[in-house]
Amino acid sequence: MSVGVVIVGAGAAGVHTAVALRERGYTGSVTLVGGEPHRPYDRPPLSKAVLRGQGRPGDAVFDIDFEDLGIGLAPGRTARAVVPGERRLVTSRGDLAYETLVIATGADPVRLPGAPAHVLRTLDDAERLRAVLDARGELVIIGAGWIGAELTTAAREAGCRVTVVEAAGAPLGGALPAEVAAPMAAWYAEAGAELRTGTRVAEVETDGVRLADGTRLRADAVVVGVGARPATDWLAGSGIALGARGEVAADAHLRASVPDVYAVGDCASFPSARYGQRLLVHHWDNAMLGARAVAAHIAQGPGTPVYDPVPYFWSEQFGRVVQYAGHAAPGDTVVWRGAAGGRDGRGPGTGGAGRGDGWSVCWTRGDRLTAVLAVDRPRDLAHGRRLITSGAAVEPRRVADPDVPLKAALREHAASTAGT
Ligand SMILES: Cc1cc2nc3c(=O)[nH]c(=O)nc-3n(C[C@H](O)[C@H](O)[C@H](O)COP(=O)(O)OP(=O)(O)OC[C@H]3O[C@@H](n4cnc5c(N)ncnc54)[C@H](O)[C@@H]3O)c2cc1C
Repeated sequence: MSVGVVIVGAGAAGVHTAVALRERGYTGSVTLVGGEPHRPYDRPPLSKAVLRGQGRPGDAVFDIDFEDLGIGLAPGRTARAVVPGERRLVTSRGDLAYETLVIATGADPVRLPGAPAHVLRTLDDAERLRAVLDARGELVIIGAGWIGAELTTAAREAGCRVTVVEAAGAPLGGALPAEVAAPMAAWYAEAGAELRTGTRVAEVETDGVRLADGTRLRADAVVVGVGARPATDWLAGSGIALGARGEVAADAHLRASVPDVYAVGDCASFPSARYGQRLLVHHWDNAMLGARAVAAHIAQGPGTPVYDPVPYFWSEQFGRVVQYAGHAAPGDTVVWRGAAGGRDGRGPGTGGAGRGDGWSVCWTRGDRLTAVLAVDRPRDLAHGRRLITSGAAVEPRRVADPDVPLKAALREHAASTAGT
């Protein structure tokens, strides 16, 4: 029997909700129910330090004294159902009563038909993959998305032969337009990996994969990195409204459709007035900021600001830091700042990006910045993120000039510097 706040899911969103509740002065009981047997840990290090054998094995574990904060941990306990009318959570180890429930169950990796393949979502997945990398065999990675890129980086560093099979025409097909992601294809070749774009996998086999055209690629191990789906199956029959992608369809305070239930992180979408659409964001920053918004609303009640962030994501791949902020729409204008293959500001040349040659791309709609992608240009990211958040008018000509700091592309700033 528990009362107070029960949080289901001990990943970034669940952990940050629990901690933020205490920071906001919430004094009721807080229980963190996690399906995994481990002490809560963070996922970004899994595809970076953990896979690359850097640091200590426990480095991904959150450095938080839960006991000291009065947060009850219940690892290895899986939520099976929720009965909102009775404020009751059904778990693998009996029922829990709640005053407020926070759903933070994240997402499950998409799997492909055929023989079992590796995925990378949990600490256990990462440890299994680390052993595969240590064996220095031949790897087929399905998907050249963010996870595929970081995995390729680690596998090549470990000395594996790597073939990456990607259905889209360029890496990061789901996240970036092909013209923007095209220079990134060269990073795979530079690292000594073979990238096959426009190639679809029909089936995973015990010793490799069979492609849609019948070709077989042999491998010692196959890793599937083609995205993740909100982990919400356990909510079936609860009456909690789900969105088109199976996620909890939350409101602007991240409340679910039944009383006293919130949803946050990879498992939940929210209506964004900023972007005029419902957003489902699978980024660490969203898990952390959403958690703070939920905790504020629980601890302080109505009157707290609605949740409407500028999405932000980072990735470390092929010796580069890639960051993205905002939300570009298909009609937005793509503006290159320091082209990936030549600094003419008009797009990638033929050369591909050289290591250490930072570049960035902005998206504009009229005189507003909607998104920024920065490769080894953290200042562009920081300035761009601020411009997007403030909604200030920019001077597109200055946005396109890589030698003008992005913050100086602000329209008023451009006018005042022109007058001096
Ligand atoms: C390998 C990897 C690397 C990443 N790197 C980056 C990065 O560099 N930058 C970035 O911005 N984002 C990155 N991300 C994304 C980021 O980690 C996620 O957006 C973030 O972890 C989402 O947090 P969450 O708490 O919503 O979900 P999760 O972290 O998935 O946590 C959900 C937890 O709920 C548990 N759970 C699920 N169902 C139940 C149930 N029924 N009962 C009890 N517990 C349950 C799960 O086991 C899990 O522990 C990465 C993700 C992965 C997998």
